[in-house]
Amino acid sequence: MKYVYGPVPSRRLGQSLGIDTIPLKTCNWNCVYCQLGRTVPLTNERKEYFPSEAILAEVKAALASHQPGEIDWLTFVGSGEPTLHSGIGWLILAVKLLTDLPIAVITNGSLLYLPDVRRDLIWADVVMPSLDAGTADLYRQLNRPHPEATFERLVDGLAAFRQDYSGKLWVEVMLVQGLNDTDRALQELATILRRIQPDEVHINLPTRPPAETWVREPEEEGLMRARAILGDIATVVHPAEGSFDLSGCDTVVEAIIGIITRHPMRQEELERTLARWTPGKVREALADLEASGGAQVVERYGVRFWSAAPSHYPDEVHSLAAAPGQRRHQQR
Ligand code: SF4
Repeated sequence: MKYVYGPVPSRRLGQSLGIDTIPLKTCNWNCVYCQLGRTVPLTNERKEYFPSEAILAEVKAALASHQPGEIDWLTFVGSGEPTLHSGIGWLILAVKLLTDLPIAVITNGSLLYLPDVRRDLIWADVVMPSLDAGTADLYRQLNRPHPEATFERLVDGLAAFRQDYSGKLWVEVMLVQGLNDTDRALQELATILRRIQPDEVHINLPTRPPAETWVREPEEEGLMRARAILGDIATVVHPAEGSFDLSGCDTVVEAIIGIITRHPMRQEELERTLARWTPGKVREALADLEASGGAQVVERYGVRFWSAAPSHYPDEVHSLAAAPGQRRHQQR
């Protein structure tokens, strides 16, 4: 399958069938922590990147091939910003007509200032937008948005969506050491969150390989500060353990590409996830993929992760050259 994957385990959504509406790294943000590498180039254009009918046909096939209880949620998510797909509203409604399973949308939220996008998402059961910063300056440092995706539009769009939307709004905050885990940054974020009134706030940590080499997870003190300042509404979300459903994959290469295009992984993790094949077969396939340019190894936190070949991860020198000033000096 090209557009649908899993179900994969999710801490918040149980076994989640992923619906990926966007080509790899098509996004209007270029987050410093993005596990899919840098966004090259940034785009803010909404269009039908893949045919909506073809995406829907895969959802139908995936639902037909699973027993009741094997899928908990259908989630629009994936390798870019899903609301850039202009057919997402039609797709959400069409999927709703197929199944009673709940639908989630994981989005950066930057296009919610557009009435069309707010209408598109209104039938989702849960919408999970990102909000990492409480000021325009920190937003630019962390999310490095397209010039049209301003902070004012992001916040106004989230607030307007909250007014219209009766489903669950769960705001996702990615906490990065030294950037948004400080007392001041968290107080500013809390002020904006009070305006948006989400149902829940999920604090995520950059455990997967970040685009930039200098990104670090917060220390325990930063996490405690975040919980204290963001309040009872906020919980820390750790990555889920569980099994990836690879029944739609015929070969080990297909399975590896399907996984690392959306979730770069360490070799041991891949070998565990791909237990249908022997570790030797997985290693052999990875070596072939690397040699043929079908996959790449990216090193972050002193760990080697396997990632999709087209992803752009800068080396230390290029990453530090684009780092916020203070970070540039600290890491040398
Ligand atoms: S983390 Fe999401 S919003 Fe940020 S650059 Fe990556 S795909 Fe885009």
